[in-house]
Amino acid sequence: MGNGTPGSVLELRGIHQIYGTGDAEVHALRGIDLSIAAGEYLAIMGPSGSGKSTLMNLLGCLDVPSSGTYSLAGQDVNDLDESELARVRNREIGFIFQSFNLVPRMTALQNTELPLAYGGVKYAERKRRALEALELVNLSYRADHRPQQLSGGQQQRVAIARALVTNPTLLLADEPTGNLDSESTFEILAIFDQLAAQGRTIVIITHEENVAERAHRVVTVKDGLITTDHANRHGELVR
Ligand code: ADP
Ligand code: MG
Repeated sequence: MGNGTPGSVLELRGIHQIYGTGDAEVHALRGIDLSIAAGEYLAIMGPSGSGKSTLMNLLGCLDVPSSGTYSLAGQDVNDLDESELARVRNREIGFIFQSFNLVPRMTALQNTELPLAYGGVKYAERKRRALEALELVNLSYRADHRPQQLSGGQQQRVAIARALVTNPTLLLADEPTGNLDSESTFEILAIFDQLAAQGRTIVIITHEENVAERAHRVVTVKDGLITTDHANRHGELVR
């Protein structure tokens, strides 16, 4: 596992992210150190412009940092080329977005299968695993429905199934309840609770207190730096 903190699956050290050059330069992250252990359920909070999406893009291997190191499941991401990064994104990370990002003309089952199709998994196994993933979000009975035939909460559950289907190292969610009413939010948070109890590693980016308080650990970002890092259950300070 390289030189990381023992037991951590994600390890960020001295991460800086700078966009643009010269007068247009924006220093979006200014030295982030963060270790996340297997099975942690973590929320990242912070005001608009604080660097949350920048951090999410790095965690999700959608971008690489200007400086600093990131290791994911023992692999130093800085060492990977674009095709290796794409492979890590497909295999190691399950993305969940505010806007669900389902393919409208595909059924819930087909949407859930997609990451496996990209990963080259054969049809029968794809179908079996996609049904299993839909089962985890209690939605196998809607496998043949298209997104427009489902409620917002149900669409997000399909998106969670799609994120789970590759059995990823990390579930990474950006404002997953941002487009949902309070009842659907409750439904989605219950699923995250269940997945956390099963030992999934989950990172949720949110600006909603009621969402963050369900996580086991809350990290606050401000002006590109981590300002607080607390365990939620007992209000104990992690660092
Ligand atoms: P948050 O998600 O917390 O609102 P962001 O990570 O999106 O914050 O942005 C952090 C800072 O970086 C902001 O000042 C934002 O304007 C800037 N920024 C984000 N993305 C880019 C980009 N692609 N090019 C230039 N500046 C950017
Ligand atoms: Mg953002």
